[in-house]
Amino acid sequence: MKSANSLMSSLGTTVFEVMSALAREHKSVNLGQGFPDDKGPDEVRAAAADYLLNGHNQYPPMMGIAELRQAVAEHAKRFQGLEVDWQSEVLVTSGATEALGDCLFGLIEPGDEVVLIEPLYDSYLPMVRRAGGIPKLVRLEPPTWRLPKEELAAAFSDRTKLILFNTPMNPCSKVFDEEELDFIAGLCLKHDAYAICDEVYEHIIFDDRRHVSLMTRPNMRNRTVRIGSAGKSFSLTGWKVGYITAAPDLMRSIAKTHQFMTFTTPPNLQWGAATGLRLGDSYFTGLAQDMQRKRDRLAGALSEIGFEVLPAHGTYFVTTDFRPLGFNGTDEDFCRHITVEAGVTAVPVSAFYDESVQAPRHFARFCFCKHDATLDSAVERLAAHFRR
Ligand code: PMP
Ligand code: GLN
Repeated sequence: MKSANSLMSSLGTTVFEVMSALAREHKSVNLGQGFPDDKGPDEVRAAAADYLLNGHNQYPPMMGIAELRQAVAEHAKRFQGLEVDWQSEVLVTSGATEALGDCLFGLIEPGDEVVLIEPLYDSYLPMVRRAGGIPKLVRLEPPTWRLPKEELAAAFSDRTKLILFNTPMNPCSKVFDEEELDFIAGLCLKHDAYAICDEVYEHIIFDDRRHVSLMTRPNMRNRTVRIGSAGKSFSLTGWKVGYITAAPDLMRSIAKTHQFMTFTTPPNLQWGAATGLRLGDSYFTGLAQDMQRKRDRLAGALSEIGFEVLPAHGTYFVTTDFRPLGFNGTDEDFCRHITVEAGVTAVPVSAFYDESVQAPRHFARFCFCKHDATLDSAVERLAAHFRR
């Protein structure tokens, strides 16, 4: 028989699935894959439930229901001061994952260069490559994860079609500041490149930082594609409702991809997400404050156990260096070891690097978007294990 697509068949199973399966097998406290314990806002779930029972459960419009597209545009105005035309500039997708695929397949021409920033979310590289893009990787270094400007400038050329990056950034919890965003913008303008910005953690940002979208920077409005996720903004990761904002010229090709990937997304969940995006400011500040408190609870306890905990400015995650505990294996060994022996699961950070190059092997990512009792139980187990 002929073989399947060589790139896809060469991939392993995503680290999130692998670690969650291992956590289930060993009944460990799962601080690996990023999903909240919280049920999500009552109003949002009630809106989706009501629509499911009483609404129109047939194919919604390909671009998404009007209410959600309008809510995405209003939300962009409220939080980023952006004027967005909901009819020509907003597309609803089945999660940010589909949104990323739609953008990459809709914009990349085989042979185009694509600038990416390591560590990177695990779907980026395979999808860029499958779309025919040639990745140009630029690596951030711990513990500051500062943007290496010279390397970034060197990664761009006139063959660059786009840069794809994530802020607040999974897994290293970096938030790009305005100066870094302007530097990226300058390179996009110089080389006539687009930017795809994965902003799924836009509301999960700490210590009085403010999320700034690259789309708001001078001359970037029509070159930037902005991606959000109801999963992250409303603690409903299983819903898989995402949204893309882009200028009409870019949106046309992105929407053509979406129409043949999923065509549309369940209408009741779209209705629920619209309700969420229209919640008052206090919901969004409350979410950030709550997550910040959880970050502090977990980060403080992990450092007491002996981990070196790196700063986390946003997202659901803290990165930890486990070498001070005396563990000498790789990050994969460590995450498996604590799952099996201590009953706590984390994710190895090397999964966020291109396999073909040397990745750091001494970091584990722990997720803190959990009830206090879950965090405390994980900490007790780790403390008991490493005291031995
Ligand atoms: N981008 C990043 C950086 C993520 O962490 C995630 C997963 N949570 C996604 C995209 C995918 O989001 P969704 O679940 O909406 O597909
Ligand atoms: N984004 C989540 C994380 O980083 C996982 C998403 C997934 O499992 N695909 O943990």
